[in-house]
Amino acid sequence: MTKEQIEEIVKTYPTPFHIYDEKGIRKNVEALKEAFAWNKGYKEFFAVKATPNPFLIQILKEYGVGCDCSSKTELMLSKAIDVTGSDIMFSSNDTPAEEFVYANKIGATINLDDFTHIEFLEKTLGKLPETLSLRFNPGGVFTISTDIMDNPGDAKYGLTTEQLFEGYRILKEKGVKRFGLHAFLASNTVTNEYYPTLAKTLFDVAVQIKEKVGVSLSFINLSGGIGIPYRPEQEPNDIKVIGEGVRKVFEEVLVPAGLGDVAIYTELGRFMMGPYGHLITKAIHEKHTHKEYIGCDACAVNLMRPAMYGAYHHITVLGKEQEPCDHKYDVTGSLCENNDKFAIDRMLPKIEIGDYLAIHDTGAHGFAMGYNYNGKLKSAELLLKEDGSVQLIRRAEKPSDYFATFDCFDFYEKISREF
Ligand SMILES: *Cc1c(COP(=O)(O)O)cnc(C)c1O
Repeated sequence: MTKEQIEEIVKTYPTPFHIYDEKGIRKNVEALKEAFAWNKGYKEFFAVKATPNPFLIQILKEYGVGCDCSSKTELMLSKAIDVTGSDIMFSSNDTPAEEFVYANKIGATINLDDFTHIEFLEKTLGKLPETLSLRFNPGGVFTISTDIMDNPGDAKYGLTTEQLFEGYRILKEKGVKRFGLHAFLASNTVTNEYYPTLAKTLFDVAVQIKEKVGVSLSFINLSGGIGIPYRPEQEPNDIKVIGEGVRKVFEEVLVPAGLGDVAIYTELGRFMMGPYGHLITKAIHEKHTHKEYIGCDACAVNLMRPAMYGAYHHITVLGKEQEPCDHKYDVTGSLCENNDKFAIDRMLPKIEIGDYLAIHDTGAHGFAMGYNYNGKLKSAELLLKEDGSVQLIRRAEKPSDYFATFDCFDFYEKISREF
């Protein structure tokens, strides 16, 4: 987006706001579908938690994408846009009974995070559903060649190998008819090898499940984890290469074992939306003390990843794309937390008060992670449509939203009237 475009938009929608690129979202989902077209039952279930906005999810729905939900409100959101039944994967953990009840009521496919949840679900529902999936955690560290990608042995999710076999045995005994297997072993991987490596692990296990338990899986869910290049020097994933890599393992492992009908599912979040959202914020202060600071009108409430994980988000000063990055800044928000910095010691063009900053790659796990610390309010979300027009897809929070849960106090009416 150009500075001129943003200057036009802020006349209607003041900063800060997240803005999403419809064209980018569409092109990407088309490429994903094409990369897995070789698999008859292939389906993507968008990880709602990444960007829980019905307008955006409806775009994906046009391509046959379903929803991966982790809570009751996410299930409700999916149902509200008529994504129900087997178009929903319920991949939750530490799940309250009422959420299983609701998921089952709307026909979602339940993916169990633990061995004990089999009994819990049976007690909760009275009878197990006909389709069930189990989440696998092989433990140890997850490596590609010699690179450690993540540490499943330290993760709270999933069943161990022994629990998995025992789990399918019990499910079969209790009359479950369709079985799925799921695993999420590494996050934000920027390598074309993650899915094929994960697929090899899961496909080998699927063959063993067939041999040892006599259960032929209906679907294998590779879950999320395909990352995006947050840093400009990173090489983006090539979804076509990833799809081909999974196909090769599929043909090597599953087809000879008589499991060539297995449907491949994915639950991507970051890959689907991450690059197609930007947080637009205005520089409102500069501060010259022990360091050089630029203070923005956005803060960690709008984008928590830098504060939470020290995550890198690229920043463009709009209108200064061609200027040299010869100034070193900490770019901060206004929270009373010293980790509220979008960038630390970042080389950028000289920033003037009133400049607009585009913080890149906020389309997934951006707005969604927001909170209300310091009484800060969450921003609006906008959609840049294919025809170049801009649509409000979530208004900014108002003080009355912040105070809404105080309706148990006498002064609620007074406070809400003030705004
Ligand atoms: C978070 C999550 C995803 C999506 O992960 P991304 O890294 O955004 O692709 C998918 N499935 C489950 C169960 C998750 O918790």
